[in-house]
Amino acid sequence: MTLELTEAQTLTQRTARDYVARVIAPRAAELDRSGGFPIESLKGLAELGLLGVNVRAEYGGAEAGAVAYALAMMEVAGGCASTAVAMAVTNMVAEVIQAFGNEEQRQRHLPKLTSGEYVTGAFALSEPAVGSDPGALTTTARRQGAGWVLDGQKQWITNGAHAGVTVVWARTGGPGAKGISCFLVEAGTPGFSAGRAEDKMGLRGSNTVPLLLEGCTVPDGARLGEEGEGFKIAMMALDGGRIGIGSQATGIGLAAQHAAVGYAKERHAFGQPIAAHQAVQFMLANNAAELEAARLMCLRAAAKKQAGERFGVEAAQAKLLASETAVRVCNRAMQVLGGYGYIRDFPVERYLRDVRVTTIYEGTSEIQRLVIAREQLR
Ligand SMILES: Cc1cc2nc3c(=O)[nH]c(=O)nc-3n(C[C@H](O)[C@H](O)[C@H](O)COP(=O)(O)OP(=O)(O)OC[C@H]3O[C@@H](n4cnc5c(N)ncnc54)[C@H](O)[C@@H]3O)c2cc1C
Repeated sequence: MTLELTEAQTLTQRTARDYVARVIAPRAAELDRSGGFPIESLKGLAELGLLGVNVRAEYGGAEAGAVAYALAMMEVAGGCASTAVAMAVTNMVAEVIQAFGNEEQRQRHLPKLTSGEYVTGAFALSEPAVGSDPGALTTTARRQGAGWVLDGQKQWITNGAHAGVTVVWARTGGPGAKGISCFLVEAGTPGFSAGRAEDKMGLRGSNTVPLLLEGCTVPDGARLGEEGEGFKIAMMALDGGRIGIGSQATGIGLAAQHAAVGYAKERHAFGQPIAAHQAVQFMLANNAAELEAARLMCLRAAAKKQAGERFGVEAAQAKLLASETAVRVCNRAMQVLGGYGYIRDFPVERYLRDVRVTTIYEGTSEIQRLVIAREQLR
């Protein structure tokens, strides 16, 4: 096993780091305050190939692989977690279309996703009454003529109001996971609309909306995969998505640690820099060690994915460990900054607000533990 990055992976990491430093990070605080949406930053990411990092070049992707994607995600999340989640979901949607779409669907959607023409993609699985248990979803799709009519409501959909294409899961058969299919719904389709954006604690520059499907008619060619295959597609997409969210959490944690280290060297108490106090050093040391574990677990899961091996358990472990680590790290970083950590003049309070959701979305920590335990007990 090698822990060295390839030249191409290092290049992707540097490209992302440079763009984050120049464009994304300087806009992050204002984006958080205004609650806007980072359309311009996303277009820039598209130009750099970062909206289709693991998508083949023939569809406009960077074809740089899952490890490069994890590295890029850490960089972008460190600059702006809101921009990072928009990027994460768009990459996930592109990968799911690449993996399960037919050639016509790939040609129709992937170039628009990777080039930024769509701005973003969205992934609509959760519903008002269904989150951790998507096998119980109630949105329906019934055949009508040569197409399908979708009815129901999706909840918490990231990018929902700014997505050129949304992957929507709906029930086409009986109860349970086997009755679920998957559809590609394009923006502007009659009967498809976004509701009021959620007023969130963090990720305030990301768009999270309910989506309404009211007699929303799509052609049969909009069905992704076979009828009844939807649940399997969702689970496979979420395995990859969890590497993205683990990497997002790690990136936010690394940024918080960077802020805490810088502050600890500058701030004085009792006649010396607070960095000279061992209690402060221990907080920084724990942060560093735990973040390195999180980083390596995300990269290991990504490497397994890239090698074409099974990676679902590794992705769940990485997401669980990285998200819970990053919440602890941001909390400690705030402690290091004392009162200044709690005010908006410094970015640490934003990191803490932004990072909290990483233990919730793309499967809560409890659901990751279920995935891991199932494997242990097999
Ligand atoms: C900002 C944001 C963005 C999101 N973006 C998207 C998106 O783009 N697309 C999308 O489809 N969804 C999205 N989600 C939804 C997200 O994935 C769900 O919130 C998450 O899966 C949890 O579902 P829930 O909120 O319904 O909680 P519930 O499923 O109701 O769970 C509530 C609590 O019960 C626990 N619990 C549930 N079942 C079990 C069990 N079997 N064992 C132990 N504990 C259990 C959970 O861990 C949790 O602590 C987003 C959510 C947020 C907050």
